[in-house]
Formats: sequence, C-alpha cells, structure tokens
Amino acid sequence: AVRDTAEEEGCAVYLVGGFVRDLLLFFPTQDLDFVVEGSGGQFARALIQRMPDGKLTQHEKFGTAQITFPDGSHLDVASTRWEYYSFPGALPQVEESCLRDDLFRRDFTINSMAICLNTEHFGELVDYYGGKRDLQQGKIRFLHNLSFIDDPTRMLRAIRFAERYHFSLAKETLEALYTAIESGVLAKLSVERFTEEILHIFKEINYLAMGQTLIRSGLFKAWFGDDYAWNFNLEDEQDSADWSLNTRWLISISDMDSPVIEKVLDRVILNRSLRDETMTFVSLRESLSNPLSLNEMDALLNKVPKEVVMVLTRDERFSKLLTEYLEASQKINMSLNGKTLIQMGVKQGPEIGKILDQVRRAWLQGRIHTLEEEKGIVRH
Ligand code: ATP
Repeated sequence: AVRDTAEEEGCAVYLVGGFVRDLLLFFPTQDLDFVVEGSGGQFARALIQRMPDGKLTQHEKFGTAQITFPDGSHLDVASTRWEYYSFPGALPQVEESCLRDDLFRRDFTINSMAICLNTEHFGELVDYYGGKRDLQQGKIRFLHNLSFIDDPTRMLRAIRFAERYHFSLAKETLEALYTAIESGVLAKLSVERFTEEILHIFKEINYLAMGQTLIRSGLFKAWFGDDYAWNFNLEDEQDSADWSLNTRWLISISDMDSPVIEKVLDRVILNRSLRDETMTFVSLRESLSNPLSLNEMDALLNKVPKEVVMVLTRDERFSKLLTEYLEASQKINMSLNGKTLIQMGVKQGPEIGKILDQVRRAWLQGRIHTLEEEKGIVRH
C-alpha cells in the first residue's frame, strides 16, 4: 500500500530509524516509521484511503502523522524536515528539508539509516553516516559532537541502546557523554522528558544493567542531586522478566529511606498509579514496623495492589510477617457480598459492611472453611 501510494503521489518514501536498525539486526520490531520527501500529511491522507481499518491523526506543528490500527499497532509518517532547538532540551521546531538532513538530525548512526520504498529503488539501503558499519561493530555513535547538548535525552537513549544490544559507546561519544554530564546539561532537560526516557528504560528486558550504567556514569547523581541507594541488582535478572513496570520501579527505590524517596519523586513525574503505589509503599513500610494482628494487617493490606505487597515481602524485616498474612489471606474464599446478604434478608445499611467484615475475618482466622459455614455465620 505504501509503495502504491508513493507512486500515485509521485513522492519518495523511506522506512527509517529503529525499524531499519532492527531489521538489519534481525531483532523483533513493531513500529514503522516512514519519511516522505515532500508533504507527509498529503501522503498520509492518500495512504489511509488504502487502509480502511486505520485511524489518521495529524500533528501539523511537527509535520508528522500517525495511522493507528484496531490491534494497537501504528505507523508514523513524517516529511523530510529539519528540526532545530530554540534552547537545549526544548522540543524541536520543524522546517522542510531533504532526507539527508532528516537523517542527520537523528540521535545515532545506527538509527540514521533508511530503506527506499519506491519501485525503482525498492529495498535499497540509504546509509549516509556509517550506520551499518556501527551495527556490525556494535557501536553507539552520535552524528555530531553537540548531539547531547542539543538533546540530553540522547544520553539516556545511548545507554538504553548500548545495553539492549550489548553494544558499547564509540570513544568520542562516550567522552562527550561524560563531558555533557559534568557540564550540567541535564539541568536543561524537562522533568517530563526525563521521566519518559526513564520509563522507557524500566520497560526494557535488561533494565537492571541500564540502571547500573545510569549510576556508574554519574548521570543519576547529576539528575537527582546525589548518589541514592538505587536497587538494580543483577541477581534479580531472571525474576525481573516477569515484573510489571510498577514492580520494577518500586524495587528500584525499595532500599531508599522515605525522605530520599520524596526527593526522587520531586525529580520525576509519575502517572497516578505509579505515584500512588510509591506513596502506599512508603506508608506501609512505616505501619508494618509496629506489631500488628492478622486483622490489622488485613485492614492495611486488603486493598493494596499485589505488586506493592510483593515488593514489601522482599524486605527482610517484613518477609515473615507478610508471608504468614498472605498464606492466611489465601484461605479467604468469600462468596457473600452486599447483594447476597440482602437476598438473605439482611437490611440495607451499615450492618451489611459489618457482617462482611466479620465473615472475612472468620475466613482469615481459619474459623470457617466452607461456603456452608460461611452462610452459617450470617444466619447466626
Ligand atoms: P525503540 O526500539 O526503543 O522504539 P526507536 O529507535 O524506534 O527505538 P523511537 O523513540 O521510536 O525509537 O524513535 C524513532 C527514531 O527517531 C529513532 O530511530 C531515531 O532515528 C529518531 N529519534 C528518536 N528520538 C530521538 C532523539 N532524541 N534525537 C534524535 N533522534 C531521535
């Protein structure tokens, strides 16, 4: 469809960026990025005619468009353009330009290759900056030495790609990374963009190794203001494959004192669920330090997301207590709820909540074991 639309519209179209990199590496990839020499908007509007399932969103300010499909996949269309930065760390401004310039504005050589999709040159690789050589040699190399100053998120991206593919940073790129960190260029980066990049890192399979590099390079110290007790323990590597993003985040801060966690939270903007779980984690750590009965534990933990409890269980101070509680809570097999109680003749009102609490407690303490016994308590 892309090739036909390109022919029809008479413009040159290329696949670019991460897709080309991963294709050459035989690495699984999903996102398709196209660059059109000419008007990306016009091309996208013509393309969508051939893709009845797709939904088109245009970002005129950036000269880009996105087509999303019902299964959640999407493809991005950009027109060749030149982005310049009004100040380091700001969002880029966009002007029309040619493919070579478009590729030069990218972060690393391995991300600066394109594949032509027009019939005459179909499948030809466009590699102005030595991306293929760097892929073969396993190097992350910037395109010019102001790259990190232009956009400090590239520092985090460099670390992410290096660890993801087990590559290393080319000598000048590594030196520039250290210079950029020392020169305080991170201060120009917005908290939003930093958070976005950090969350990309936490979603990577080997995020633990990336976390270690973020500490070792001094990047985390430069951003957060001090060397905090981040927990990126490589011994967790196997288990971490099954951890959700929230679990990974909570574990990474789990060795920090509460005041330190507060300082960390000042330097990232987390979504609601991540922020709430972090706060819950901190407050439960305080509460669990006091002696608690099974019922009190249940009242505290009943509605807490599983991942928060799981991370707390890793703490030696609470592991015995929590394991006991979790075992007891597994016995709870409540069939009753407000509706069934009303059907059994209980009057609507605060009484219902009280009865449900009592039944839950009976399960928890092992006083009842069957649904019959459960009903028995209510009748009683
Ligand atoms: P991933 O596999 O993580 O999605 P990707 O390379 O596809 O990697 P995107 O963030 O989707 O990552 O970016 C797509 C392309 O846009 C990159 O390959 C790169 O060419 C370019 N790009 C992205 N971010 C930057 C940046 N901060 N500076 C310069 N170019 C960038």
